[in-house]
Amino acid sequence: MKGISHLFFLEQVVEDKSQLSVSELLHRANKGIVPGPDEPKLMDDIAINEKNADPCTSFGCLWPKHSDGKVYIPYVIANSYSPSEVDIIQRGLDSFSYSTCISFIPRSNEIDFVSIESRSGCYSYVGRVGNGQTVSLERGGCVYHNIVQHELIHALGFNHEQTRNDRDNHIQVVWENIIEDMKYNFDIIDTLNQGTPYDYSSVMQYERYAFSKNGLPTMIPIPDNNVELGTSTEMSQNDIIRINRLYQCFVEDKSAQLSVSELLHRANRGIVPEADEPKLMDDIAVNEKNADPCTSYGCLWPKYSDGKIYVPYVIANHYSSRELEIIKRGLDSFSYTTCIRFFPRSNERDYISIESRSGCYSYVGRQGYAQTVSLARNGCLYHNTVQHELLHALGFNHEQTRNDRDNHIQVVWENITEDMKYNFNKINTLNQGTPYDYSSVMQYGRYAFSKNGLPTMIPIPNNNAALGTSTEMSQNDIIRINRLYQCCE
Ligand SMILES: [Zn+2]
Ligand SMILES: [Zn+2]
Repeated sequence: MKGISHLFFLEQVVEDKSQLSVSELLHRANKGIVPGPDEPKLMDDIAINEKNADPCTSFGCLWPKHSDGKVYIPYVIANSYSPSEVDIIQRGLDSFSYSTCISFIPRSNEIDFVSIESRSGCYSYVGRVGNGQTVSLERGGCVYHNIVQHELIHALGFNHEQTRNDRDNHIQVVWENIIEDMKYNFDIIDTLNQGTPYDYSSVMQYERYAFSKNGLPTMIPIPDNNVELGTSTEMSQNDIIRINRLYQCFVEDKSAQLSVSELLHRANRGIVPEADEPKLMDDIAVNEKNADPCTSYGCLWPKYSDGKIYVPYVIANHYSSRELEIIKRGLDSFSYTTCIRFFPRSNERDYISIESRSGCYSYVGRQGYAQTVSLARNGCLYHNTVQHELLHALGFNHEQTRNDRDNHIQVVWENITEDMKYNFNKINTLNQGTPYDYSSVMQYGRYAFSKNGLPTMIPIPNNNAALGTSTEMSQNDIIRINRLYQCCE
């Protein structure tokens, strides 16, 4: 009985400490540390490679990728740790393999590896340094899940969130509250943001009072002073996305399972298009020179003498190679089942310009000259979303705007957000004799534009039919393209 309560007490203590933020734990562990003569020079918890003090950039400090798409990082763990400490370290190492293509593996004879040791405090180099590189996790102060992840993320190439070059838009650094010789910790660095937003909940973000000399905040979130800052107990979703983008991991993204309308809703919510962008009605760009619905005479893409429809495209150069793969896969998917061939533009007058602008949108049909298909990096790069926007560019509208839709779905007007009701107006769509299709990639989901969490569309007669949950073009979507463009003639 005594033993049990003692154990319980210990677990309470451990549990307690693991709730501390990374920067509090680092501060406690690294306070007053004097590194040994064989240890690297430290800037807070970052070890400096004096052979190469440059910030880690993409050319030299990544860990190499194996032909199977995984990044294997060999490690050794010093034998000075207790079994429960090894468990915590192992759990931290393993956590990367669940959500990224990083796989820490016990070293056999690889040249480059991380050597996890209990040295003076918690620290790591940023990125791969070559040969054995120490990740110090001192017993007593550094063996916590968030600290293990934090130091390993340094070893993968990442810096602290508060050193991002866009940080002044998200936190106010209060220089007068910072300990004089700790101010360097707030210098802006060329960090590897990978297109992700500034993230207060990154495990690389320090907390509000980090390096305070007077108990007053050194960082204040803007504009909302009350948001949590640097209190994460594990990697955030953005930390995971950054790793996956930097290492070009092709992991199964849960968002890929979301329906088109959920993805569009997430990406386009609250979007304010810029001055040079078109007027939008949901994800459809309105050509104000010609606001007619797209009809068959003018908005088709022309047919070549070989019977194929060649649609020229350009892709803006701000996408990562992983994002480019998703876009190309979407473009190419049309050539397997239809006579549409998207191809890189040379000097054709009319073409689509794929760019990361404000959300996901496209014009309906060919507009003449360059026409934007916006696939914002933050939210639109999914196979079904790419196909959906390209189908708009080919001339198609949303399934729920078909003029026969009232036979197949009941629109529940009272549940629709007032200024979104126009999305349910009927349009002269190009049905091409195909039946109404709940699984069209142009069909929105049951709760699209709901103002109260109740359905805005109910399938009839079978209320339980899946509605708008497609992750790719349906058979009817394909038939429509082939008929509209007379692919088989
Ligand atoms: Zn750190
Ligand atoms: Zn759409």
